[in-house]
Amino acid sequence: MKKEFDKTEEASTCPFNRRGFLKGIAAAGVLASIPAGILRAQAWERIQYEGEYDIFRNACPRNCYDTCSIKSYVRNNVLEFIEGAQESTFTDGALCVKGYAYPRRVYSPDRIKYPMRQIGRGTGNWKRISWDEAMTEIGEKILEMKKKDGSLLGMALDKYSGNFGITHYGVEGMMSSLGYTSRFVGTPCWPAGIDAQNFDMGNMWCNDPEDLVKAKFIIIWGGNPAWNSVHTMKFIYEAQERGAKLVVIDPLLTQTAAKADLYVRVKTSQDGVLALGMARHIVDKGLYNKEFVESYSKGFDDFVEYLKTSVTVEWAAEQSGVPAEAIRQIAEDYAKADPATIWVGYGLQRHVNGGVNVRAIDALAAMTGNVGKEGGGVRYGHLQTWGFNYNAMVQKQPEGSVGYLGKDKIVSEFTAEQEGGAEYADRTININKLAESILTTNDPPIRMLWVACKNPFAQDFDRPKLQKAFGTLEKVIVVDQFFNETVQNADIVLPTTTLFEEYTVNASYWHYWLSINEKAIPEQYEARSDLQIAAMLSKKMNELEAGSCTFPQIMDTKVWMEKEFNDGIYKLFGIRKWQDLRSGPQKAKLTSSAAWHEKKFATPSGKYEFSSDLAAEYGHTRLPEHKSRRKAYDAFRVLTPHTQFGLHSQFVNIDYMEDFNKEPFVYMHPAAARARKISDGDMVKVFNKVGSVTVKAKLTNTVAEDVLLMYEAWFKKANFNVQNLVDDESSDMGTFKTGAPGVAIHDQFADIAKA
Ligand code: SF4
Repeated sequence: MKKEFDKTEEASTCPFNRRGFLKGIAAAGVLASIPAGILRAQAWERIQYEGEYDIFRNACPRNCYDTCSIKSYVRNNVLEFIEGAQESTFTDGALCVKGYAYPRRVYSPDRIKYPMRQIGRGTGNWKRISWDEAMTEIGEKILEMKKKDGSLLGMALDKYSGNFGITHYGVEGMMSSLGYTSRFVGTPCWPAGIDAQNFDMGNMWCNDPEDLVKAKFIIIWGGNPAWNSVHTMKFIYEAQERGAKLVVIDPLLTQTAAKADLYVRVKTSQDGVLALGMARHIVDKGLYNKEFVESYSKGFDDFVEYLKTSVTVEWAAEQSGVPAEAIRQIAEDYAKADPATIWVGYGLQRHVNGGVNVRAIDALAAMTGNVGKEGGGVRYGHLQTWGFNYNAMVQKQPEGSVGYLGKDKIVSEFTAEQEGGAEYADRTININKLAESILTTNDPPIRMLWVACKNPFAQDFDRPKLQKAFGTLEKVIVVDQFFNETVQNADIVLPTTTLFEEYTVNASYWHYWLSINEKAIPEQYEARSDLQIAAMLSKKMNELEAGSCTFPQIMDTKVWMEKEFNDGIYKLFGIRKWQDLRSGPQKAKLTSSAAWHEKKFATPSGKYEFSSDLAAEYGHTRLPEHKSRRKAYDAFRVLTPHTQFGLHSQFVNIDYMEDFNKEPFVYMHPAAARARKISDGDMVKVFNKVGSVTVKAKLTNTVAEDVLLMYEAWFKKANFNVQNLVDDESSDMGTFKTGAPGVAIHDQFADIAKA
């Protein structure tokens, strides 16, 4: 029987030990997935649980393709263990190793337990304070800024994807409820690809990943799902068992590549050239789909003209490093398979030519008639199941608020306008230029930064410049669970809840399942959810100055979760009320598993646009033409993709994860190492114009000779940060849909020497 959460009492002891954790994940089949993500449906035995538990529904809110549905087992208010929900055919009863470590994350001895003030930023001299003291200090600073500047534009929010629970948009709501503020907008992850798909098809929309089983030919291009979408791998394996061929195109020989029938090493950021070479061969052989290009597309003739005048397979081979014969073979196999699909990973669009590279790959799918087909498609992501109310986000500014009047203000359905007054807005700043913007924004300058659901020191670019920028801020507030590097650069840290300590609802940008997230245990120590913090701040602001904050002052996260549902969501998921999700996650009722199955596109022409006027309006070529890559400014290209054992800076710091991932390395090719007189295990210094990293070298021929590979992660004990080497160069696209271009994370260069 399920207990009412408000009758529970605090419990904060760790219910299991490291040995039990390892045993548990072995039983669930996760250890088997560690080398290459070999999750298969029903490949493990079910664990039998003894005793009575209160069972709750949760969802992994991390920025992960898989957004797993979780079943949580609680006894005496203690989260004893969790498992993947069996009702979801995507989660299919299993989590990844990070997911299974959640109970340890909840009960980690390193968790921030109370609000704390740092006496001297960066000193580590933290003093516990009460929530009232914290809110008073923050509230007084807000009022001081408003008095000094005449507006709250000196207060900035830096928030991203640390928790994708829908109610966490309440942080944006909290900012609006205080006044017009400065907002870091855009996304570091995927904006160039989003714009590319919007120019081509009018939206970003991908097939249901479960229909990969129907594909006859699969290309995974610039992605590594064996590490970061382990649940999708089972559908790919099933397709292979049914006879599909798997091709992986990547500059790195990843563990997904190790599972492929064919691995193709492409030169970094030359994916678009490779796609254009394939397209030219498909045209030469007359293998394109005449019905699709004639009935459902615009500008195909112009594209063919461009290919015939500017692209040859030999040129594509020279530029991409892929032999001409291989280009012809892959192109023919892909064009002849029915259906054939391409999964476009987020890595290949993190370049100065990333958006146009995605457009060239989209064009391959369209010209072969694979768009709109079950088992086909060009898969990038979707937001089809995110139609919530965003009630927590939509808050009105206090009367008389003064805001930004510049031309570049956000104009969206959430823009609140003063009745009869000036049309003020928030001041928007590119999220990928955090350091530069803090240093250069004036009238007023950014005085106070609120960081939530993000760890900019681990994820943002040009870390040395970021350090300098933080030095100019008058007040830094960070809401987090652990003392990471951003917290070390804060004045006040506010402890926040884990997913098991609040209500929210979670959708996926990849699959089509929806899960509620119930409060399974009481808030640990003095941790509070983002919504509860917003309510506390509102109460204090109104005590300090009546009417200075419009956010509700009483907060029940369950009530606020309920407010996010609407008839559209109920209809889409075939439920009558949100409580139906207590029996398990639900999948959207799809007419077809294929995106664009009616072949009615959301572009201005209603067709697939090989030639896009909208792209031209945003300063790009109409056609997906070749765009040169960033010029190298150092001896090696630096790649910093996601690690297997973490999500950005999350999870790697959990002590139990150290069993899998003890320390960071720089991976380099043995021949390149020989030339620098570096041996396996040597301490080396990797350095460039941005900064340097000192780390142990590991030699491997899974990387090309001109590549240095370091995984992005935050190790609690190691002084290691790849953002010491990554500048904030922009990618080509992103402004159209996300408000700011992406960042060319994988267009970085450095040299290396023995330390
Ligand atoms: S990190 Fe991803 S795969 Fe792992 S439990 Fe969370 S959603 Fe699932």
